[in-house]
Parts: sequence; C-alpha cells; structure tokens
Amino acid sequence: MGKCMIIGCGGVASVAIHKCCQNSEVFEGIMIASRTKSKCDALKEKLQPTTKTIIETAQVNADNVDELITLIESYKPDVVLNLALPYQDLTIMDACLATKTHYVDTANYEPLDTAKFEYKWQWAYRERFEKAGITALLGSGFDPGVTGVFSAYAMKHEFDEINYIDILDCNGGDHGYPFATNFNPEINIREVSAKGSYIEDGKWVETEPMEIKRVYNFKGVGEKDMYLLHHEELESLALNIKGIRRIRFFMTFGQSYLTHLKCLENVGMTSIEPIMYEGREIVPLQFLKAVLPDPASLGPRTVGKTNIGCIFRGKKDGKDKNYYLYNICDHQECYKEVGSQAISYTTGVPAMIGAMMIMTGKWNKAGVYNIEEFDPDPFMEALNKWGLPWEEDFNPTLVD
Ligand code: NDP
Repeated sequence: MGKCMIIGCGGVASVAIHKCCQNSEVFEGIMIASRTKSKCDALKEKLQPTTKTIIETAQVNADNVDELITLIESYKPDVVLNLALPYQDLTIMDACLATKTHYVDTANYEPLDTAKFEYKWQWAYRERFEKAGITALLGSGFDPGVTGVFSAYAMKHEFDEINYIDILDCNGGDHGYPFATNFNPEINIREVSAKGSYIEDGKWVETEPMEIKRVYNFKGVGEKDMYLLHHEELESLALNIKGIRRIRFFMTFGQSYLTHLKCLENVGMTSIEPIMYEGREIVPLQFLKAVLPDPASLGPRTVGKTNIGCIFRGKKDGKDKNYYLYNICDHQECYKEVGSQAISYTTGVPAMIGAMMIMTGKWNKAGVYNIEEFDPDPFMEALNKWGLPWEEDFNPTLVD
C-alpha cells in the first residue's frame, strides 16, 4: 500500500514499528529516523527477518526543518508519523507542508520553556494544510487518541447528545522500583506537576495539582486512587462533541509515587528553569530524567494491567443514558508480544492505526484535525484487530 516515515525511536515508536511490521500489507516500507541512529539500526536488525515490510533507517535532528525536508524528499513517504517529543511537532509539520506529505502525531506541541498543553500552535496550520491538500492527524495515541475515537463512536452510535465525559486512565502496573515513570520522565513529570483543570459550561476551571481525588473500582485492576489532571484532549473534545457541559480527566497514582514526586518538587528537581551547575547551564528536570530508570527498561519488570476509557452521560431518544467504553491491557502480554510494557503499547498501537487510516485513504480530508473529527468506525474495528480490544458497560459506576 505505501511507505511511512517514523520519527523517533523511543518507547512508543518501538511498539508502533513492531505493529507496522505485523501489518506489511499496508506498511510496505518504513523508515525509522531518529536522533540516535544506532537505536533505529538495532530495531531493524531485530525486526527485518520477521517481516515483509522493508525497513530503512536514518539519523535526523527533528528540530531542523531543512534536514527533515531533505530526508522526506529522499524517502518519499506517504505519511510521516511523529513519535519524537512534543517539542518537534511544529518543525515536522513545517517539513510535511514543504514536501506535501501527510502528518500524524500523538501529543500536542508545547514549547520547551512552558509546560502548557494547547492546540493553538498546531491549529494555526489548518489553512496551510488545507491549501497543500494534505492531512495532519493530531493526537493518535491512547489519550489523546483512542479517547477521542471512543467519544466520536459514542456520539455516532449511542447518543443524541453527550453532556458529561469523564476520561479515566488507570495504570495498575507495578515495576518494583520506588520511583520511575512509565514514559518519557520529562513529559510525564511536566504533565503531573502542572495545575489540574477541567472544562465546565465552556470555561476552564483550574485546580491545584492533585487537588481533586476520587476512588474508583476498575475492572481488571481493582480499587485505585485517581486525581484530576489537565489533559490536552479536553480542549478539542469540548469543541467537537455536541452538547458537552463538563469534561474531566483522571489518572491513577499510588501514594508512593506522589510522595516521591512531592519531595522532588520540594527540592527543585522538577523545575524546567535552567540553573548554573559547575559553570554550565542545566535544566533540573532534564537532569532528573538522566538519573531515573529508562522507561524502556521497565518492560520486563512490570506486572498488572491498565484500564483506560471514557464514561459518557447524555441523552438518547429523550432519555438519560450512561455508557462506559474502555480497554484493558496487560503489561506482561505486551512485553511478550513486542518487548514493551502497556503504556508504550497502548500509545504505539493507535499511532500505527492512525497512520494506516491515512495511508489506506479511510480517513481522507485536507487540513489539520483532531482524531474525533474522523469516522470512528474503521479505527474501532482496527483496535480490536491490532491488540487493543474495547469493552462496553451500559450501567457503569459514575464518578461524582
Ligand atoms: P521517548 O523519550 O522514549 O522517545 C522519544 C524519541 O524521540 C527518542 O528516540 C529520541 O531520540 C527521539 N528524539 C527526541 N528529540 C529528537 C530530535 N530533536 N530529533 C530526532 N529525534 C528525537 O518518548 P516516548 O516514546 O515515551 O514518547 C513519544 C511521544 O509519545 C511523546 O511525544 C509523548 O508525549 C507521546 N505520548 C503520547 C501518549 C498518548 O497516549 N497520546 C502516551 C505516551 C506518550 P534518542 O533516542 O536519541 O533519545
């Protein structure tokens, strides 16, 4: 069917690459291009004997638009799948515009110096992508990603209007370390140490970090504490889903994780303000990343399950209706299949599916779109097929 260039070769990219290689009919060729080429080569060496997909590798600095353009022009992919970090979103979008190549990512742009997740920078590309006749699919991971597809599916098949959405992200996994993050520590800690917020009646309501706590009994996992966080998909879902009055995002955290985080925060280790250390400038959070366990090393040690989904409340045929759509994913099963734990798996699989939707032409409109703006049905079907089957509950316990 076509060729895909994957930028980045970290935890999420590794899963997406395994999945592309399982799906050679669509992904005839992939190029893995990242900052550290040896990681790309190691993955190629492992996977090439197992797949018909032709794998190429390259070194690229994705902060540099010209380098990206040269590489895209030489490989001529149908789509670029950005699995580097959110800081590279705009340079990669610029290169896609210059080469008229479709673009897919899993996290919205944020500038290095402000931990603020907003779509405004990427939405500003709408007209240019439309004019160029290419698609940018934003947020094709799990959350954002599958949560948006679930919302579009609920809207299409189960509701006339959706008034309340609660997104619940539960990780019941245990890696045995006193403190480690399940994906890029810098991104993860920036996310959880920021103020919380949710949308009510069209307005953002801000909370202190971890101010709002609830307890929920998750299928497959059990009872967990969860906390309200700001999350990027709230912004787009509040605009794209009809009738929304309130939308919130909760993530589970254990007490030990929070105590460690508080201590690191109190001593200044989570700060993104550069400081001088022995004559050179360093960012404390980046230094912390360097001393924490590499998320990729957690795979073999992590046991337990994740359960991520959305509880919808709204109206169907004039009556009140509640509906819960979720996926349960087992850390060890993921590790057996692709050598990564469930956090990378639940993001890497939808990333592959997003690229597949564009490459197969199932999703085909020029411009910049969030994932819930496309027909959810082919994506939902693909989730079942490619390792993230979903379950539904028509009488869920609600979150107060
Ligand atoms: P990792 O840190 O494991 O991987 C990032 C990769 O990008 C690394 O291979 C890194 O290279 C590469 N990279 C970084 N900067 C550059 C650059 N300037 N040029 C080229 N390559 C670069 O991160 P994850 O795999 O955990 O996360 C990837 C993305 O997925 C992030 O944007 C994250 O926010 C997003 N995400 C989304 C989720 C969702 O559900 N939507 C959930 C989890 C993550 P090197 O190997 O040299 O370090």
